[in-house]
Amino acid sequence: MAFLEINCKLQTYRWQNLHKRYIVSSVGLRAFGSLIRQRRTSCPRCSFFRDRLYMDGDSLSKKSIKNFINTEEQEETKVNTKQSFLQRSVDKVVDVVVIGCGPAGLALARSLSERKLQVVCIDPHIDKPWKNNYGVWLDRMESLQLADCLSPVWSNTRVHIDNNRTRLLPFAYGKVDRNRMKQKLLNVCKESGVVFFEDSVANIIQEPPYYSCITSQQGKFTCRLVVDATGHFNTFVKFDTPHDPGFQVAYGIDVEVSGHPFPIDEMLLMDFRDSHMQDSLEDKTQSFMFPTFLYAMPMSGTRVFLEETSLISKPPLSFEHLKQRLFKRLRFLRIEIKHIFEEEFCMIPMGGSMPSFSQNVLGFGGSAGMVHPATGYMFSRVMEMAPILAKSIENSLLLFDDKALSKNTPLSIWNELWSHERTLQRNFYQFGGEYLSKIALGDMCDFFWAFFMLPDKEWKEFLDFDLTSSRKRLLFGLRIFSRTSPALRLSLIKEAILNGRLKLLKSVVL
Ligand SMILES: Cc1cc2nc3c(=O)[nH]c(=O)nc-3n(C[C@H](O)[C@H](O)[C@H](O)COP(=O)(O)OP(=O)(O)OC[C@H]3O[C@@H](n4cnc5c(N)ncnc54)[C@H](O)[C@@H]3O)c2cc1C
Repeated sequence: MAFLEINCKLQTYRWQNLHKRYIVSSVGLRAFGSLIRQRRTSCPRCSFFRDRLYMDGDSLSKKSIKNFINTEEQEETKVNTKQSFLQRSVDKVVDVVVIGCGPAGLALARSLSERKLQVVCIDPHIDKPWKNNYGVWLDRMESLQLADCLSPVWSNTRVHIDNNRTRLLPFAYGKVDRNRMKQKLLNVCKESGVVFFEDSVANIIQEPPYYSCITSQQGKFTCRLVVDATGHFNTFVKFDTPHDPGFQVAYGIDVEVSGHPFPIDEMLLMDFRDSHMQDSLEDKTQSFMFPTFLYAMPMSGTRVFLEETSLISKPPLSFEHLKQRLFKRLRFLRIEIKHIFEEEFCMIPMGGSMPSFSQNVLGFGGSAGMVHPATGYMFSRVMEMAPILAKSIENSLLLFDDKALSKNTPLSIWNELWSHERTLQRNFYQFGGEYLSKIALGDMCDFFWAFFMLPDKEWKEFLDFDLTSSRKRLLFGLRIFSRTSPALRLSLIKEAILNGRLKLLKSVVL
């Protein structure tokens, strides 16, 4: 106990001195950054900033997050679901009930119905557009034959690391046309006989050998398998160990402006420049310790989607803080807003535990932890994985014809979704995500410069969930490592030893 107390006092003393040193000379920001590396959230004196920057426990409760996200008024153009295929109830046992009609649920329903399985989809917002603004790489959507659902498409993508380092990435990027994409999936589902029910599932009960989904309007749908596709703040999927993810948080606006400095043939993926945060010591420190970047999609000379993003933080930065930073940035860039069409409050849990594979309910999309743990991307991933999961579900159902499924059926499907290889890949990315959540702006910029200076194929494979062998991951890790500064290398080694440990090792050798 005494040792712990002394150690604790020593740490506090160290931090007090660090702060004093920092306040005496703000020129030492960089050195300060390397000392606070890995300790951003544990610094006792940082609580001054932390309290105002982070969301507190209350605003992080599952219920309040659900209410907070996307509550602003948004375009209400209806997706045409043609009421004829919206049903009130289904009186027979179907193969699969998919709960949730976000990108994951609809992509899976489409793939299941293409395999001639009987599918019911339940969601309270079937005829409303998806709320999130999705950005994706064009090449991935082309390979999925979904490029027609992008609008606009930018031929190049830009990253600004700081005032001296910028790179034009030779990959086209597109904004998903939410209505067209949703309508396209709904149309295929409709043609293949999927039944839609507009309600929310309140409960799933097991009535061996079947499952029944009970909706809040007392509808009852009985099926052989249930898939929870209700998103990140999942309703039914359970975790074996406490789920403790990091969070990508972003505040975005789709606006009409009098003019803007962004070339309209370039999508701005990341702009870490922080000249707008240099007016006060508080701003400088916040920007340095809690880096955020601008993500911008110029739609025309006067319309642009702008988002201030915290790549990954734990606990999450607050929307209010991100909003203030975005408006400071816009003032600095002399961008005058004429009209706000839409506000986006984005919060994506990243990494954290894996869902329990021993449960009977299956998960897909956000509910199954499928988001990229270091980037927050998932859209193309679910489009790509839906046919794979559908095939696995079909095979399992065929094995038992119309009879009761084996107790192990959900387990084997979970194992296919999270195969050994995919799990190793997730662990590798998760190490990256957790490392990024702990470093300050200077290191973050050095890291991303090293990342984007890799051969294009290599950083793209990282972003595309395409580091599909331990060899690829090892080579990727070594190449990044060899390009970073000695200080960053040291911190990477420390992180690997203290936190990456066996999981990281396995992801690069097995
Ligand atoms: C604001 C935001 C922006 C994002 N931008 C990108 C991006 O640019 N690129 C990218 O690749 N990824 C992006 N992501 C990450 C990821 O692709 C999205 O979160 C994606 O929407 C997840 O899809 P999903 O279908 O799993 O869940 P969701 O899209 O959340 O859909 C879940 C559906 O389930 C329904 N539902 C919930 N509870 C119930 C219930 N009890 N009963 C019935 N239905 C229910 C909801 O109504 C909803 O329609 C973004 C995420 C957010 C939050």
